[in-house]
Amino acid sequence: MTVKGEKRSEEIIKSLQKIVGRECVTSEVTDLYAYTRDASPVEGVLPLAVVKPATTIECSRILKLANELKFKVYVRGGGTSAGGGGIAFQQDSIILDTTRMNKILEIDEKNMSVTVQAGIIWSTLNEELAKQGYRVPFWGPESAYGATLGGSLALASMSSQGVTEAGGTYNQVITLEVVLPTGDILRTGSDTLPNAGKFARVCNGGDYTGIFLGSLGVFGIITEVTLNLEALPNVARYIGVVFDTWDDGIDFVLKILRVKAIPKSLNITPGERSVRSSWNVDGQCGFRIVIEEADDELAERKERIIRKIGVELDGYFPEDGDKKVEEWWKKMFLRLVTAEKEYGFAAHACHKIPLHKLPIAVKEAEEYFIKTHRVEEQGMKMSLGAYVSDQRPVVGFYPFLFFKDYPEVRKKAMEIWEGWIAHAITYYGASPYWMGWVWTKNLMPRVRPEYIDFLKKLKSAIDPNNILNPGVLV
Ligand SMILES: Cc1cc2nc3c(=O)[nH]c(=O)nc-3n(C[C@H](O)[C@H](O)[C@H](O)COP(=O)(O)OP(=O)(O)OC[C@H]3O[C@@H](n4cnc5c(N)ncnc54)[C@H](O)[C@@H]3O)c2cc1C
Repeated sequence: MTVKGEKRSEEIIKSLQKIVGRECVTSEVTDLYAYTRDASPVEGVLPLAVVKPATTIECSRILKLANELKFKVYVRGGGTSAGGGGIAFQQDSIILDTTRMNKILEIDEKNMSVTVQAGIIWSTLNEELAKQGYRVPFWGPESAYGATLGGSLALASMSSQGVTEAGGTYNQVITLEVVLPTGDILRTGSDTLPNAGKFARVCNGGDYTGIFLGSLGVFGIITEVTLNLEALPNVARYIGVVFDTWDDGIDFVLKILRVKAIPKSLNITPGERSVRSSWNVDGQCGFRIVIEEADDELAERKERIIRKIGVELDGYFPEDGDKKVEEWWKKMFLRLVTAEKEYGFAAHACHKIPLHKLPIAVKEAEEYFIKTHRVEEQGMKMSLGAYVSDQRPVVGFYPFLFFKDYPEVRKKAMEIWEGWIAHAITYYGASPYWMGWVWTKNLMPRVRPEYIDFLKKLKSAIDPNNILNPGVLV
């Protein structure tokens, strides 16, 4: 670094220390390296410093300072993004770590809502809510032991936990507090009106919560979130069923959705390979169904209806199926971590597609990874899964490529991974939810030009100095 460069970083660091205190800013090179990775092999650049604010006002002051001194700010929650997120992509930047903003601010039983600081991690929130008999109807991605609420909203995270009935993280939000890139503080929904409270998302002129969900933190730092609550269930029912054909499997889902016997989770084991490895039988698709209700009769009724639909469509209910589903469900926040321990890093390509396109997507993925790229012969492992989301015939499809992180294997795996993402987008319109740099790079050149133009205009209006998360989405 030049003398001029050193003076500038010193000025930035001293100014940050004035805002949050000396102990909450680090520029130690070993600390900085720890912030150059997320849970994927993607590497970021070394930031000048890492700052850990504890309040909204501190976030606001940091962004005002960034505009004044013209340095970049990359936001990081738990750093568990697995596609290049929460790291810096440009030089002359700092990382703003939100994990000190971890308080539960209010559990409002009258409004059935909870308000938290956005740096709280899901498992802490879940534990605290459970003490009072509640949970959020979607209660976190599989990385719940490390992922923050803010990071999950910025990635529009979803997973099997309640997603079929309640949708992903994005559907749980009532209002947000966001620090805009200029440092201004915005509240959304009913909270735009002083003294109204936090009870409605779409009102007072529109839904401006939506622009912050899934947009990777480029439009603002989410600092507070008000979310829906539901009562913890008293009763759980588990069903495992396998179908010989995709036609019957898809019909099974459509019939359940039509009569609204919606379970918490309708998880799909897609394709013959997955069915054989999960259920040890032949079939084109299998289902793990979890019903959880606070009311016994409701659970029983849903179970009866779902089983009847399965029987009418000649579904096969393996003898130990229900037990297998229960075991699978209870490992909800350990599944992917356990697989990573065994098989290595997971390069993910999670995206949404219509249910009826799932058979094509599965066939393409098997062709691509197994036949064309022979990943198994190279010591890698492909796994496929899916779940029905949002009470709609739409699935979250999650192809994973697991690989051991040796430099030459990593390089090869990254090429295969990116190649698949590009193929899935172009071939059948894969639309990612849990995005990151690898998706951005491959998705943005393929979306309609008007959309890119709109995003760029929005970004330059909200962030005129291009301070916050530059290059992460636009
Ligand atoms: C083992 C494992 C399992 C996983 N399972 C799932 C899963 O089931 N479903 C799923 O969707 N994902 C999953 N993920 C990916 C990731 O953990 C989640 O998407 C998680 O929600 C990210 O949260 P985070 O706090 O770690 O975000 P980070 O990785 O820190 O950041 C992610 C993005 O959000 C931005 N950001 C972070 N905080 C804020 C904020 N307060 N305001 C604005 N922007 C912000 C960052 O700049 C970055 O662009 C998994 C990852 C691992 C390693």
